[in-house]
Amino acid sequence: MQYLYSDKSELIKELEVVRKEYEEIKKKGLKLDMSRGKPASDQLDLSDGILDCVTHEECQSIKTEVRNYGLVDGIQEAKELFADLLEVSTDEIIVFGNSSLNMMYDTIIRAFVLGVDGSTPWSKLDKVKFLCVVPGYDRHFRICEKLGIEMINIEMTESGPDMDTVEKLVSTDESIKGIWNIPKYSNPSGITYSDETVRRFANLKPKAKDFRIFWDNAYCIHDLYDESDKLLNLLEECKKAGNADMAYIFSSTSKVTYPGAGIAFAIASKNNIDRMKNEISTQTIGPDKINQLRFVKFFKNAENIRLHMKKHAELIRPKFEVVLDALNKNFSENKIVTWTNPRGGYFVSVNVVDNCAKRTVALCKEAGVVLTDAGATFPYGNDPRDRNIRIAPTYPTLPELKDAIDVFCVCAKLAVLENLTK
Ligand code: PLP
Repeated sequence: MQYLYSDKSELIKELEVVRKEYEEIKKKGLKLDMSRGKPASDQLDLSDGILDCVTHEECQSIKTEVRNYGLVDGIQEAKELFADLLEVSTDEIIVFGNSSLNMMYDTIIRAFVLGVDGSTPWSKLDKVKFLCVVPGYDRHFRICEKLGIEMINIEMTESGPDMDTVEKLVSTDESIKGIWNIPKYSNPSGITYSDETVRRFANLKPKAKDFRIFWDNAYCIHDLYDESDKLLNLLEECKKAGNADMAYIFSSTSKVTYPGAGIAFAIASKNNIDRMKNEISTQTIGPDKINQLRFVKFFKNAENIRLHMKKHAELIRPKFEVVLDALNKNFSENKIVTWTNPRGGYFVSVNVVDNCAKRTVALCKEAGVVLTDAGATFPYGNDPRDRNIRIAPTYPTLPELKDAIDVFCVCAKLAVLENLTK
């Protein structure tokens, strides 16, 4: 049925049908969660060998003394492994603790307190603004909100952010100090930036000389299919454009092995890395090097990490397909919901008819299915069109997910029908 073009009496009849369906679902007393992008336990099992691979002998089998203080930028063996994987040189990477979000937060805090490369500390400025690609990652936005950074929405397109607006704003407003990006398999849209978009980023001419591109490459190796999306190397492009210091790249192994017990990275020009190392060495005398050794011993080389990621893909691809099939079945004709078809990452981004996202999420909650709050994918939790919902398919089991997405489809229909028949 074409909801958007049907007359009201037909819609009211349909509303009654869908409402009955919804009441039946509620009776099931479901308790399902599609809210956060966490690996399921079968994915965690893939890495269990890592717990046993560092013995006393192993600690002594490499040149580096991992048991003592020091090496704020990581052990050489881990730097080589991850520099190879992430296609950078070992003097352009810091291999650090467990959380890239923590590194991003600290980087911004240091900009507030110490300034960026000799510039005025951001805390001394009247206003600091960040551009935020939307829909985006709620925790990026939370950092800005906590620190009083004004956020400006930038629309995501199929090839990345709206670069005309980015270029215009960055080149004219000195208070714009950064932009958040998730350039590959973006959270939540799954979009990978095109080569042209990456080049336009590298060639930005910011009014603020302490402007930095925050390039959160959290899903850089998280492909769902053998043929992966290719993302141009921002740092290389920035170097070509004479803008080497403009890029701050982050990533981690949180969704490679265990979230919370992985390794995080910062990648940047040698100049930025040297400064970061100096600043970080005030915060800590060194990261958990024994954990870094675990990764070196468990994976041995970059190719093995890529093979490991294929095992993750085998487990989660069917889950994405369940979600996409259900969306197709329920909405390809009536067009009240549009969605992205990600080829990697952890999310499917869904847009319902305007003004229906909050109601859809509330209906799901009442029926026992938890989704990420509507609005969470926008700064200040405010989706101006109240239409975007992030679906995270990885954590539930396949049967749970089938139930959860069916509930979502009924709730989205109900929310839209209620809205159209008001
Ligand atoms: N960045 C993005 C885009 C994410 O989606 C997530 C987790 O969901 C993180 C960062 C968190 O990374 P970490 O575990 O390295 O702090």
